[in-house]
Formats: sequence, C-alpha cells, structure tokens
Amino acid sequence: MAIIILNKINRTRQYFLSFLFVCIIGGICFILSDFIGYRVVAFILLVTVSLIAMFFDILPVLFAALLSALIWDFFFIPPRYTFLVGSAEDTLMLLMYFIIAMLNAVLTNKIRRMEKIARQKEEKANTIKLYNVLFNSLSHELKTPIATIIGATDNLLTDSNKISEDNKYKLISEISIASVRLNEQVENLLNMSRLESGYIRPKLDWCDVNELVYSVVNRLENELKKHSLKVEINENLPLFKLDFGLMEQVLHNLIINAVNYTEPGATITISADCIRNLKGHFEVTANEIKSKRDATINTLILKISDNGIGIPEDEIEHVFDKFYRLKNSKTGGTGLGLSIVKGFVEAHNGTIILSNIEGGGILFTIKIPSETSSLNKQKNE
Ligand code: ADP
Repeated sequence: MAIIILNKINRTRQYFLSFLFVCIIGGICFILSDFIGYRVVAFILLVTVSLIAMFFDILPVLFAALLSALIWDFFFIPPRYTFLVGSAEDTLMLLMYFIIAMLNAVLTNKIRRMEKIARQKEEKANTIKLYNVLFNSLSHELKTPIATIIGATDNLLTDSNKISEDNKYKLISEISIASVRLNEQVENLLNMSRLESGYIRPKLDWCDVNELVYSVVNRLENELKKHSLKVEINENLPLFKLDFGLMEQVLHNLIINAVNYTEPGATITISADCIRNLKGHFEVTANEIKSKRDATINTLILKISDNGIGIPEDEIEHVFDKFYRLKNSKTGGTGLGLSIVKGFVEAHNGTIILSNIEGGGILFTIKIPSETSSLNKQKNE
C-alpha cells in the first residue's frame, strides 16, 4: 500500500525527497561522527539508499547513491572536507561503496519490476477465470430459455392443428416464462456493465414508496402465486427522492430471490419506514439545506425478509460479490442479482445489510438517506 502511494509521487518530488533523506541521515551521522567511525557511516548511508530504493524509481535512487557516496567522501573519509582520499584502502572502500550502492538501486528496481509483472499476470489470470465462470453460467442461463422458446414455437408452428387447446396454452405459458427469464438475465448483464463502467448516476425524483413497492409486486404477480406476501408500509411515510427505476430493480431482485430460494408456501415480508434524523446527522452542509428550503434529510428503511432456510453465516459476507453463488445453491442464476442490488443501493449513498433470522430465513435491511417531503404538500403543488 505504502509502495503504491509513494510510487505515485512524481519524479521531481522523488529527487527532492531522496536528496532530503540522504542529507538528513548524513547530517545525523555528522553530529555523531565523534562517536561512530567513518566506516560505520558508510553502512548507515547504504541502508538509507536501500530504503529509498524500495519506494522510488531507479533514477532518483541512483541519484541518492551518487550523492551519498560524495557526502561520505567529502564529510567523513579522512582527510575530511575534501574529495581527496588519504589511503589506498579508503579508495578501494569508496569504490566498493559506490558499486554496492548502484547495484543495490538497480537490483531492488529489478525485483520491483518483476513483482509488478507477476501481479499483472495474476490479475489477468483472475480476470480470465472470472470470464470463464461468467460465460459458463451465462451460456447456460441464456441458452436454456432460448431453447425452450425455440422448441415451443417450433411445436406450435409445425403441429398447430394436432395440438389441443390445453397443450397450446401450456406451450405459450412456457414461452412466456422463458422470455421473462431471458429478459431478467439480459437486464442483469446490462445493469452489471453499467455499474462496472461507473456510469450509474441516479436520476432522483420524488418517489412514493407505496407506488414503488406495488409496481414491483404487481409485476411479479405470477412468480408470487405460490408464496404468501406481507407488505407493511408506514402510513405516514413521506415522499423520498430516489431513482424509481433503480429501486424497482433492487426490490425486484430481492423478491425474486426470496421466491426462488424458499419453498412454496413460505412468507415474504416487505416493510418500509422512515427514521427522522437529528439535526446535522447527515453530511449535508447548512447551505445545501438552506438552498433546498423545505427539504429534510431523513432515512428510508426498507426491509425484505423471508422465512426460508437462510444463508450459512460464513457465506454472508460473500453473497454480494459478483458471480458469487452459495455452495449448495440450486442450479439457475448467475450470481449477479445481489451485487447489482448493492451497487444500486450504494449509488443512492445507502447501505444494505444481510442477516439471518432466528428460526429461519434472511432479512435484508436497506437504509437510504434522502430528502423527504410530505405527500400532501407534493400533491397540492
Ligand atoms: P443468483 O440468484 O443469480 O444466484 P444472487 O446474487 O441474486 O445470484 O444471489 C447469490 C446467492 O445468494 C444465490 O445463489 C443464493 O444461493 C443466495 N440467496 C439469495 N437470496 C436468498 C434467499 N432469499 N434465501 C436463501 N439464499 C439466497
């Protein structure tokens, strides 16, 4: 981490800092030169150059090596305060110091470059692995509904007269279910690529949470047929500034998961409430609040829970990862749904927490800070 930060320091600064470090260490050695011999100083300066080599580019390090050799020669090797070297032994020492300092710089730099290449290779291998996982699950997820649609339409077209009305209805239902599934996967992919590109900018507008919840629930009427649904929305909920489309997708993914990963007959509960915040609780400047006059920043709390089998505790922290599916998850699904949910909630500056419920099932708690406005006031406007 420290290496990455220091690498970002520009070249001129690196030269300046190398100069500073060598001078400071040289100065300290100079003060202590009565107590330590000039040969010990050579070791201290070598360590300084090695430390600089760990963080900076090759040229500033070579500069530090050269500077430290000159400082050692001028201030420490007898006769002091001249570049002359008194004995043949010291000349040899100075030459060796210079070579070791340079080698140190070059080799450390080489190791760092090799490390960088190894890191890049590892990253590339991980990306390829990720893409393989994606393509394997995607090809299955896309091909299955496409095969269903092709098969059913083929049957309808070729044997139309021989098929009973009952079977025709069954084939058309199959086509409809497969198209919805295909549409969901394509939506997930498009949303994921929007999130990946950092392109998600929520279009905030006044939003009635009742309308939001029921628009998703009504669209999922068929899917919810075998489950019992409880909607508990606080009657006095104000309007929130949200991106209706993104929040619809959040609720859609969570409800469809609750349907898919619980047994028929299970109960799915959706609740919505608002926490009024104390003054100054949110990071909104006084000016911002003033400019929005009547706007108040509160927190929307959305809870989606089911009474299914829950999620193993050790996997909870991973379920929001891209392409992550539980080890014993039933087939179907790409592992993108929850990562999209998290991305969209965070695009609203919100948070989402997942916890297991005692006695079975899971609970998603979404908290989104938002401007609020009373429903009546908006309606009057
Ligand atoms: P997908 O559903 O495509 O596999 P998700 O990201 O939506 O991907 O979900 C990740 C995993 O979390 C799923 O594979 C499933 O095992 C688990 N999961 C999600 N929702 C629930 C739920 N309500 N109950 C139990 N497990 C769930």
